[in-house]
Amino acid sequence: MDRGYVVFNSEECKGCGLCVESCPPKVLHLSPGLNRYGYHPAQYDGHGCTGCGICYFACPEPGGISVFRLPRASKAA
Ligand code: SF4
Ligand code: SF4
Repeated sequence: MDRGYVVFNSEECKGCGLCVESCPPKVLHLSPGLNRYGYHPAQYDGHGCTGCGICYFACPEPGGISVFRLPRASKAA
């Protein structure tokens, strides 16, 4: 089960790829499409995020990435 997820603001992304390189489980990629500035924006693969926040701190664009942590699943007694 995923421990987190990320949401990108594609229009703020400059396509630098720092988040893609910094993500430990490698669950980010640059989109083949272009945003309004002509950059390939980063995207989340959709699964595998741990919610570690490293991509957030790697991103030079304020508001480029939001990281969310999911609550731990409770174990059955
Ligand atoms: S929060 Fe961590 S695991 Fe999730 S996308 Fe960012 S760097 Fe990768
Ligand atoms: S680090 Fe930020 S600006 Fe660079 S590709 Fe990732 S989201 Fe875009």
